[in-house]
Amino acid sequence: MSKRDYYEVLGVNKNASDTEIKKAYRKLALKYHPDKNPGDSEAENKFKEASEAYEVLSDGQKRAQYDQFGHSTNGGFGNYQSQGFSNVNFEDIFGDFDDIFNIFGGGAGRRTSRGGQQARQGTDLLYELEVTFEEAAFGGKRQIKLPKMETCSKCGGSGADSPSDIETCSTCGGRGQIRRSQGFFSISQPCPDCRGQGKKIKKTCSHCHGAGKVRVEKSISVNIPAGVETGNRLRLAGEGEGGVNGGPPGDLYIQMNVLPHKYFERDGNNIYCDIPVTFTTVTLGGEVEVPTLTGKAKLKVPEGTQTGKIFRLKGKGIADLQGRGIGDLLVRLVVVTPTKLNTRQKELLQELRKELGESGAEQSGGLWDKVKGMFD
Ligand SMILES: [Zn+2]
Ligand SMILES: [Zn+2]
Repeated sequence: MSKRDYYEVLGVNKNASDTEIKKAYRKLALKYHPDKNPGDSEAENKFKEASEAYEVLSDGQKRAQYDQFGHSTNGGFGNYQSQGFSNVNFEDIFGDFDDIFNIFGGGAGRRTSRGGQQARQGTDLLYELEVTFEEAAFGGKRQIKLPKMETCSKCGGSGADSPSDIETCSTCGGRGQIRRSQGFFSISQPCPDCRGQGKKIKKTCSHCHGAGKVRVEKSISVNIPAGVETGNRLRLAGEGEGGVNGGPPGDLYIQMNVLPHKYFERDGNNIYCDIPVTFTTVTLGGEVEVPTLTGKAKLKVPEGTQTGKIFRLKGKGIADLQGRGIGDLLVRLVVVTPTKLNTRQKELLQELRKELGESGAEQSGGLWDKVKGMFD
């Protein structure tokens, strides 16, 4: 059986460039690869034929010999037919093309750079920041010290003392993966020699000792927006740990932990506080001083105010985080019973009691009516 012309096999002309030859072979190899055509001996033969043609035509010297002598030569490559495609380095052909590379079950994953060095984004970091009640209410600026791993500035993350100290791994040819053939099937696995890095470092960087990263304490300015609550997170893009193999840095998340206040409780944008008042103030009416987040305020207490009454001070609460207005301050009056009265004060109260009799209670309204029947 006469052999087909190699150029004909690949479907290229005699002047085809290396790229054209590679492209043509790639196309045929994809079509006839045994992994894609299990049990199809015709495909297998076509695959072998194309591989043989490529092995010769992709090698400048062999191609020159073939051009001169054709198949009839005995110049040392007459045995190619029996060897089939075993000598062809597939990764040379497919390594450049991530999209088709995986068809062969190589499992090398997507690579953003050659040589088995996968670029990865740095780790995100979480920092818990304690803020005061007032800072949460009005916002503020804080300087934090963040310990983190950053890409080494001396070697740029390569871990090598100088670029010339980085060697391509000879075991895997810089791919980071090695391919083992088993019949027509080939399995790809991480290179044991360079642990998938595709490179070896002769002399490590003196600054990071080869790690490519260094621990630093970075001072970062944090703007606390007005209205934050415990659990809210701020994202500072790019302030996380340095990326791997030229990948982008991760992000930093600042988680707010709002400290409790001496007087105020918070519910959403509203704040609450209890204010003690004397029974004379609530009975006769008057004025009490109440604390607010911005200082003191005066609250008018109308005559006959009941204990537990809540007064709303509009706009004295907390600014909404999304900018939707400001909450209120809700002040609850709590009547405090006097405990250390002098003789004169007691006498006055005795007199008052006599004077008021039952009527004092009756006047105070609904609650008395409700419990009146209890003792009958
Ligand atoms: Zn290697
Ligand atoms: Zn370094």
